[in-house]
Amino acid sequence: MASSPAAQAPAAVHATPSVPSCPVCGRPMEKGLLAAESFVGGAKWVKERTRLALGGESLAPPDRWGNVYLDGFRCTGCRILALSY
Ligand SMILES: [Zn+2]
Repeated sequence: MASSPAAQAPAAVHATPSVPSCPVCGRPMEKGLLAAESFVGGAKWVKERTRLALGGESLAPPDRWGNVYLDGFRCTGCRILALSY
């Protein structure tokens, strides 16, 4: 009975501990950016869809080429995005 519990522990080889786990399935999420085209208002948070998407809280302005980028992570299995703004 000389078996040590530590000898059977799997090696911690997760390269980037900063990668969050998916809130649904718990697997590591993929780092990337959400890129969207928006020549006027940029990206904003709204509570519901409206015809012209008026109002809302501005999250990120468009760059000079009309693109908005939001850093974040995704889970391809659950099709979930976790974005920073
Ligand atoms: Zn997931």
